[in-house]
Amino acid sequence: MSTTSFAQKAILRGNALKSIKNVKSARSQGAARVVRTMASNTTLPIDLKGKKAFIAGVADDNGFGWAIAKALSQAGADVILGTWVPALNIFETSYRRGKFDESRKLSDGSLMEFAKIYPMDAVFDTMDDVPEDVKTNKRYAGNEKWTVSEVAECVEKDFGKIDILVHSLANGREVAKPLLETSREGYLGAISASSYSNIAMLQKFGPLMNKGGACISLTYLASERIIPGYGGGMSSAKAALESDTRVLAFEAGRKWGIRVNTISAGPLGSRAAKAIGFIDDMINYSMTNAPLSEKPLDAIEVGNTAAFLCSPLASAITGSTVYVDNGLNCMGVATDSKSIPDRS
Ligand code: NAD
Repeated sequence: MSTTSFAQKAILRGNALKSIKNVKSARSQGAARVVRTMASNTTLPIDLKGKKAFIAGVADDNGFGWAIAKALSQAGADVILGTWVPALNIFETSYRRGKFDESRKLSDGSLMEFAKIYPMDAVFDTMDDVPEDVKTNKRYAGNEKWTVSEVAECVEKDFGKIDILVHSLANGREVAKPLLETSREGYLGAISASSYSNIAMLQKFGPLMNKGGACISLTYLASERIIPGYGGGMSSAKAALESDTRVLAFEAGRKWGIRVNTISAGPLGSRAAKAIGFIDDMINYSMTNAPLSEKPLDAIEVGNTAAFLCSPLASAITGSTVYVDNGLNCMGVATDSKSIPDRS
C-alpha cells in the first residue's frame, strides 16, 4: 500500500504538471522547427539516393525501360541493366559512341551512367535450360552467365543487395496472329518471355533484395479489353502478368517485405511496339479518345510513376495495376465512332 502523504502527492502532481508543460513547450518548439523547415522546403521529393536498381529490358533510348532508368537515376538511385543478349552489342556500341548522350541528360546537366550492363536472356533460368541452337547462335557468342539465375548471382557478387527490380520486357513471336490462329508453341513462348520471366526474376533476385524494396513490371490494356491485332497469346501473357502481380505481392511481401506492382502503360512508339505493326494507329486512337488528349503519352511519365512506386512514398501500395495511359482505360465508347454523335 502506498504511504505517500497528501502533501507529497501534491508535490508530485505539481512536478508532473511542470514536466507535462515542459514536454508541451518542447513539442511546440519542435513543431515550430518542423514548420520552419517545411516552410523553407515545401517539396515532397522522391529520394532514392543510396538505392540500387536492376532493370531488365533496356536496349535503346526509346522504350519504357530507358525512361524508368532515367527517372530512377534522377531520383539518385544507382542503375544496373540487364540487356537482351542479341541486342547487347549494338546497344553498347551506340552508348559508347554517344548516340544516347542527349537522352542521358539529367536535370542538372550531368549524364545518366549505368553502374554495369549485364547480358541477359529472361527466357532461361539456368544454363541447363538453354537449347544447343541458342548456345551456338552467333548472336550469343562471346557472352556468358546470361541466364536469370546467373545474372542474379553476378549482381549479388558485384553489388551485394539491391532495392529495386524492374521487368520491362516482352516478346511474342506470333503477336501479329489472331489468338484463334496462334500455335501452342507461340502462345507458350509469349507467356514464357513476357510473364514467367517476371516470376523467374523475382524468384532469383528476391533473396538479394533489401526489406522495403520494390518490383515493377509493365503491362498493357489488352489484358482486360479486346485489342484486335495484339495477338499470339500476348493478351493472355499480360493478363497473367497482372494476376501474378497480386499473388507475388502477397508471397514476396510476406517472405521478403518487398512490394510488387505493375504499370499499365498507354501506347508508345518503342522498338518492340513498332515491330507489332500498328502502334501509330493506337497512339492516334488514344489522342482522339482518351480523357487527356492534348499530347501523346511520354515515356518519362511512366518512368516517374515507377520512381514513385519504388520510393518510400508508395510504402503501402502493392499488388496494384497502376494505369499511366492518359485515362484511356476508363473509356467505354470511342468518341470518334461513326455510330454515336460527338459529345466531347
Ligand atoms: P522496348 O523495345 O523498349 O523494350 C522491350 C525490351 O525487351 C527490349 O529491350 C528487348 O531487347 C527486351 N527483350 C525481349 N526479349 C527478351 C528476353 N528474352 N530477355 C531479356 N530481354 C528481352 O519496348 P517497350 O514498349 O518499352 O516494352 C517494355 C515493356 O512495356 C513491355 O513489357 C511491353 O509489353 C510494355 N508495354 C509497352 C507498350 C507500348 O505501347 N510500347 C504499352 C504497354 C506496355
